[in-house]
Amino acid sequence: MGIIAAIPEGYISGLGRDYPHPKLAHLYKGTFGDPGLPMCRRGWNRDDGESYSIWRGNIGTNGICKVCMRRARAGLDGVKAKESGQSES
Ligand SMILES: [Zn+2]
Repeated sequence: MGIIAAIPEGYISGLGRDYPHPKLAHLYKGTFGDPGLPMCRRGWNRDDGESYSIWRGNIGTNGICKVCMRRARAGLDGVKAKESGQSES
């Protein structure tokens, strides 16, 4: 078995439904029934960043996005679509 990254409580993983499947899953602040906002801009994988379509609870072959993981561990909120005020770090 590979290493399974522990997803902080209150967040779920989501893998983009595009084909070929993306290698990296992003985290969403919410529940399986209501995933809420993604934890990084790349979680907005549809309509040029205005929406997303994900397989909830799935993880890519490369695991989970490190940016999402770091932000989720810090207990931060998700990012809104097309939000330009978000600073890159
Ligand atoms: Zn991410």
